[in-house]
Amino acid sequence: MNGPAARATEDRFSRFRLIGWWDQAKIRAARVLVIGAGALGNEILKNLALLGFVNIVVVDMDSIEASNLSRSVLYRSADVGRRKAEAAAEAVRGIFPEACVRPITADVVHGLGLGVFYWADLVLAGLDNREARLWINRACWKLRKPWIDGAIEGINGVARVFVAGTPPCYECTLGETDWAILNKRMSCNLLALENDTEGKVATTPTISSIIAGIEVQEAVKLLHGLPVLAGKGFILEGLNHTSYRVEYTENAGCMSHSSFDKIVTVAETSRELTLRQLLSRARQRIGAHQIVLEFSRDVVHKLVCPNCGAEEELFAAVGTVPYARGRCTACGHMRAVITVHGYTGEEPFGDRSLDRLGLPLFDVFTARSEDRELAFVIAGDEQAAVGPPAAIPQNSRASGSSR
Ligand SMILES: [Zn+2]
Ligand SMILES: [Zn+2]
Repeated sequence: MNGPAARATEDRFSRFRLIGWWDQAKIRAARVLVIGAGALGNEILKNLALLGFVNIVVVDMDSIEASNLSRSVLYRSADVGRRKAEAAAEAVRGIFPEACVRPITADVVHGLGLGVFYWADLVLAGLDNREARLWINRACWKLRKPWIDGAIEGINGVARVFVAGTPPCYECTLGETDWAILNKRMSCNLLALENDTEGKVATTPTISSIIAGIEVQEAVKLLHGLPVLAGKGFILEGLNHTSYRVEYTENAGCMSHSSFDKIVTVAETSRELTLRQLLSRARQRIGAHQIVLEFSRDVVHKLVCPNCGAEEELFAAVGTVPYARGRCTACGHMRAVITVHGYTGEEPFGDRSLDRLGLPLFDVFTARSEDRELAFVIAGDEQAAVGPPAAIPQNSRASGSSR
């Protein structure tokens, strides 16, 4: 990009350059994963677009409802019924045409490959539940990525930053009440029950713009190496204009504190590789025969009827199979759910290609021997999952740092 177009980009961000430490090139080069395109997600994405972020992936599983329109700057009445991620991506490009925004319509816990976290430099979350936050926290730790969380209720809110490798993390902040709610959601329901009241929290566009503003501002500071709210929270109580910082404490027994030591990228797509082939590659790389290839999440392998003995092979991520599906099609009995979470070479499904396991594209498989661990990112899926990398114009590299 040269000439008038380049000059227009220069002019567009000229006021940012008046900030001494600002480096537009850092913003332009950053890869940002935005999870949630609701009230907070809209404001996060709007801010990213205005600031000149180019590489953005937005993930949301829902469609736009009329009630979203009062809290979502990116959506119009005509968008009702559309996928949030798609409408949001389009609106961001409307604000900043150079932005390369990839929409992914998926649930982060069940349908987003860990490779997307590997792709990202940082993660911004606009969520309304603890389960997704916990999942993001563990994924970010595994792949050593910082993430910024926001939560809103009524006219109050909190923004906080978690830097993988440096506790406290999100899981460290969870108290007994949080775990009670989490366990209720996660335990014993191998099959998904009908939705509860999630997504029906009272919120306003005013608090979402404030908290998302803090989140994105922290992201910008983080990219510039400035001090951020790492392991801390900024809390705002709207009624009394009270704001303060909380310092979280590390939980020594926290389950989130583990990161991959070594990550290997696999050039093939998940359609081109079977479990058996990946296992043999892992055996070679690690130099051991006894290896477990762990999945990123548990998979429903089969539904087995205890009454008539009928079996159905499924291969779907745990949590994605509706409860009603559990009934035996032959006799109507509730069936037992058989799950798998890895492959050792013994199981009967070794000839399945990686895309037929019920796991998302661009996922990570962890090979574990007695004393070694190696994470395999199925990088051949990258284009299908997050698209080609955005072109970075030559002249933008140097701009912004001149002042
Ligand atoms: Zn922790
Ligand atoms: Zn049956």
